[in-house]
Amino acid sequence: MEVDLDALCANLRRVAGSAEVIPMVKADAYGLGAPRVVDAIVAALAPEGPRAFGVATVAEGEALRAGGWAGRIVVFAPIPPGEFRRAGEAGLALAISSLAALRRWSEVAAEVGRALPFHLEIDTGMGRSGLPWAEAGAWGAMVATGASGLRWEGCFTHFHSADEPPSAPTLAQWDRFRRALAQLPPEPPGAPRRVAHAANSAAALRFPAYRAGLVRPGIALYGGAAGSGDVPLPVAKLCARVVLVREVPAETSLGYGATYTSGGAERWATLGIGYGDGLPRLLSPGGGCALLRGRRAPIIGRISMDVTVVDVTHVPDAAEGDVATLIGRSHGAEITLDEVAERCGTISYEILTGLTPRLPRVYLGAAGAR
Ligand SMILES: *Cc1c(COP(=O)(O)O)cnc(C)c1O
Repeated sequence: MEVDLDALCANLRRVAGSAEVIPMVKADAYGLGAPRVVDAIVAALAPEGPRAFGVATVAEGEALRAGGWAGRIVVFAPIPPGEFRRAGEAGLALAISSLAALRRWSEVAAEVGRALPFHLEIDTGMGRSGLPWAEAGAWGAMVATGASGLRWEGCFTHFHSADEPPSAPTLAQWDRFRRALAQLPPEPPGAPRRVAHAANSAAALRFPAYRAGLVRPGIALYGGAAGSGDVPLPVAKLCARVVLVREVPAETSLGYGATYTSGGAERWATLGIGYGDGLPRLLSPGGGCALLRGRRAPIIGRISMDVTVVDVTHVPDAAEGDVATLIGRSHGAEITLDEVAERCGTISYEILTGLTPRLPRVYLGAAGAR
């Protein structure tokens, strides 16, 4: 897997525009490898770096600390009660979704003797976390009281359909967010202003007004289309070696379940990649291909754990040792990340985060120079 860090940084600049950024590097930077992605972003946004990095778990935040990032880190998913203390010790900011969580966080602040930061999540329709937008008048004052001993750095919401064509759901969520914010007590005198943020990649690209000075992009950094027909630069390239080429006679069966049988004399190339590397098995029934010498070679039979077979009958010069491209560009041809996701009936996010540690990550670009 080749990761083009220059393209990633170009995507970051484009999705953010003039807004500040909290790059989402959860799930190991969507599978691309958080340490190098973080270094590249920090270098690209030097000297300040991004406003914060966004993660989903305390362990991910701790890993960024261990990697040397001393700036802000926000844990955006709710965390189990037993992990608050660790979060406090690592100096992470939590996304707070309940008064109980706020209480727990302020207890930890007292224990560690520091004003710990938090961002309040306002649920405007996502439903999985956050305080209900319609009741902000009721909980706003309680949050302000409960925040003593803490640093209330911001409020945010998350869009559920910013990547789908109808814009009405996103407009409605934005409106609910603004209405909830208007019900919150103001910052105490002398306290820094709380930031408000909402835009994921799709919202930042499709509704630039909702960048509101601070965006939280993920997929667009990593080369996935954010649903607008607006395709970022490709970042991840998935390759495998041809490890065996065979000429087979008609009626040769292939793979588990023998789901494929050669129609006549064919040439098959075995690639050294399988679902154990994260190449989804569903790519084969979905009509997936590999690029070999600039031509599309269809995947035939079932994808195995370690190997995948493609038909190279029409690529007579394909040879053992060749590099096949499963995602990315080669010799002017291209298989996009989103094409692969569609063929598997899923989204680019799941393809990237499903790539396993067995695949070596190779980093390209000046942004990643070490
Ligand atoms: C993952 C995540 C994002 C980024 O979403 P993309 O669609 O990948 O841009 C933004 N905000 C929150 C809270 C998230 O969990």
